[in-house]
Amino acid sequence: MNRIALATAVATLMTPRVAPAQTLSAREARLRAQVAVHFDQAVDLLARAVNVSSGTFNVAGVRATGALYRRELDLLGFTTRWVDLPPAMKRAGHLIGEWRGPRFAAGGKRILLIGHLDTVFEGDGQRFARRDTVARGAGTADMKGGNTAIILALKALKAAGLLDEMRIIVVMTGDEEAAGRPLSISRRDLIAAARESDVALAFEGGDARTATIARRGASGWLLTVQGRQSHSSGIFRDGAGYGAVFEAARILNEFRERLSRQPYLTFNPGTIVGGTDVSYDTAAVSGTAAGKTNIIANRVVVQGDLRFLTDRQEDSARAAMRAIVATSLPGTTATITFEEGYPGMPPTDGAREVLRLFDQVSQDLGYPAIEALPPERRGAGDVSFVAGIVASLDGLGVDGFGSHSPEEGVYLPSLKMAAERAALLMHRLSRPRLNLP
Ligand SMILES: [Zn+2]
Repeated sequence: MNRIALATAVATLMTPRVAPAQTLSAREARLRAQVAVHFDQAVDLLARAVNVSSGTFNVAGVRATGALYRRELDLLGFTTRWVDLPPAMKRAGHLIGEWRGPRFAAGGKRILLIGHLDTVFEGDGQRFARRDTVARGAGTADMKGGNTAIILALKALKAAGLLDEMRIIVVMTGDEEAAGRPLSISRRDLIAAARESDVALAFEGGDARTATIARRGASGWLLTVQGRQSHSSGIFRDGAGYGAVFEAARILNEFRERLSRQPYLTFNPGTIVGGTDVSYDTAAVSGTAAGKTNIIANRVVVQGDLRFLTDRQEDSARAAMRAIVATSLPGTTATITFEEGYPGMPPTDGAREVLRLFDQVSQDLGYPAIEALPPERRGAGDVSFVAGIVASLDGLGVDGFGSHSPEEGVYLPSLKMAAERAALLMHRLSRPRLNLP
């Protein structure tokens, strides 16, 4: 399908069927109508946000994007603040907004809404360009569209008179695409917000039919192998040993043989550099090597990733990898180090219940039924840091294409769909007597 045909197909999916009148209460019907009333304003907000370049390392751009959304939250009556991170981290910081509705009833769920202000694309001068139902520009889908869906949903809730019954914290991080380290500092305020909430809703890219209650965590590893540099004619024999290249090959092959068939577990050696004269830069994931065919290589560096569903799976994979690394071939030694990564997000009963509510909301609005996206189909994200604390659902954002590139685009009907579904879900979560496991 070409892009136009695809856009038409997506728009059809996002056009609600006429819902049976009794599925929405009168208040809920008013809420939905208010999303339509504020939709054009939201597209304008999205355009202004996309026209500010905000690659993760563009600190001024991320702050300027944050200022746009902060103004919207201020206008809604939220108490907002900007959280700075230590300068050495070279990240812009986060936007936080809090709302305590005066008519919030005990038993209602306190809701955390998660967005992010940065984009993977670090270039400049990308302008928002709209053609009919499709808009293009870096960040339109991931996730300025999602942030805008948050604002649109909140505006509709306020206009429908329902915001007063809610307690909400909005956290829009400034470094989701390349989180500052250590994570204990860069994710501290997000985690603190989760501790004051009962449910977390994250607005990473979504589609009409799926949402995320489980996703894999991700971390990295660095394998360094040493051998004895000597004449190739002596290889495999006493004194010379097997060399660093054969040892690296053994290790990687055993990783594959021992660990490649575990559900949800993957690992990928992204780069490998070996020889007698090796330089390697882990930040750039780049290196150089030189050697001679008649000299046994004495050094290999391999850098890779590791993805897993649970902390336990991560721990056992690491242990297995360490054990493989430790059983060196003669004349070689090797070490493996693991970097601090994103935690896994295994499914919980609470998250399943929020998904069930979201599915009901979607169908009551005349949109498709919602299924859980398989965990391996979604990369790591900020929601993973809070999923162990509160019932968490991700994928409430907009539907688009070309993520992480200047060609990125969004199907605008999905902005309306995302805001309608989010607003109604938030309203129903806020009612008392709703039990979450
Ligand atoms: Zn994102």
